[in-house]
Amino acid sequence: MQPKELLDLTEQFGNPLYVYDAEKIEFQYNRLTNAFKVEKLRINYAMKALSNISILKLLKNLGSGLDTVSIQEVRLGLHAGFTPDRIIFTPNGVSFEEIEEVAEMGVQINIDNLSVLEHFGAKYPKVPVCIRINPHVMAGGNENISVGHIDSKFGISIYQIPHILRIVENTKMNINGIHMHTGSDILDIEVFLYASEILFDAAKQFKNLEFLDFGSGFKVPYKKSDIETNIEELGKKLTKRFLAFEKEYGRELTLAFEPGKFLVSEAGYFLAKVNVVKQTTSTVFAGIDSGFNHLIRPMFYGSQHSIENISNPKGKERFYTVVGYICETDTFANNRRIPEIHEGDMLCFRNAGAYCFSMASNYNSRFKPAEVLWKNGKGHLIRERETFDDLLQNQILLDI
Ligand SMILES: *Cc1c(COP(=O)(O)O)cnc(C)c1O
Repeated sequence: MQPKELLDLTEQFGNPLYVYDAEKIEFQYNRLTNAFKVEKLRINYAMKALSNISILKLLKNLGSGLDTVSIQEVRLGLHAGFTPDRIIFTPNGVSFEEIEEVAEMGVQINIDNLSVLEHFGAKYPKVPVCIRINPHVMAGGNENISVGHIDSKFGISIYQIPHILRIVENTKMNINGIHMHTGSDILDIEVFLYASEILFDAAKQFKNLEFLDFGSGFKVPYKKSDIETNIEELGKKLTKRFLAFEKEYGRELTLAFEPGKFLVSEAGYFLAKVNVVKQTTSTVFAGIDSGFNHLIRPMFYGSQHSIENISNPKGKERFYTVVGYICETDTFANNRRIPEIHEGDMLCFRNAGAYCFSMASNYNSRFKPAEVLWKNGKGHLIRERETFDDLLQNQILLDI
């Protein structure tokens, strides 16, 4: 999107503001579906990345399914128009009752714990279940975002397959899918393919599979020099291997993925106004009308979102440290080159589609921003800015 278009949207909808470019989401979805040339491909959008119901509807219209991690996400998906058979539920550490409730809705259950598997299989032997395997592969390299390694809380260890088989035999339950999700950043395709071999190996042990789910972790660039997962190359290699496995397995299978970041990260823009420019002895701070209440990734994960000054895109570049208004250290960017900033200018944060609004809070009793979908050259409001009533909602002023 162009700086002028974004600036106009803040005039129309106010700021701070989240904007999502529908065309970019569509582009990414098509890239993914074109990369894997198999008979049956299923993309389940991991909605925790960005859960606005209009975004869900957009993805549904593209043909996507949905990957959910809570019963509330399942309900939002149904509300957006997904049918239960298009939704998979991949929770971790939720109550047995929640799993039961979701299964009753007709949603595909994905279990990642032996005790839950045994309990569920004994009670509902006829309900098809997918199993989340932990292949113990470190895909990311960053402790916070690698979920496949030995100490991870996710999945059932690949070394516990004999125990899984024992449970399946005892309960006569129906395992229709095998799943893995190794971490949040695939930097190296070979590492991903290595983990896939472990999944293929595990799959051979189950006779009634309908799908193999390879999770996600597709990396998107945050700046020009960043490495991006080469989806096209991965597609070529994994497609070939998948087709060979199907032959060996003796039955057609669905190849499934559940990307979040890949589909929506680059489609998102976060726009916030500069309240103050503050010179100290060593630094020029640009203080914006936002903080980690709206965009926590830089502080939480050290994410480097690129920042543009859309009020002065061609200005002379200077160095700024961009901070928020929260009464704590909330640094968005340190010593960053940005076209000259004046108080009142509008800054634009890139890659603000995934894990940005969905992680927003009301800390410091601030309102959550509005969200806008940019489609066919027009901005459509998809979430109203909060108001003071929203802050009071559910609070009780005691008569004391
Ligand atoms: C979060 C999550 C995803 C999506 O990961 P991205 O890095 O956003 O693509 C996929 N599957 C599961 C089980 C997840 O928890």
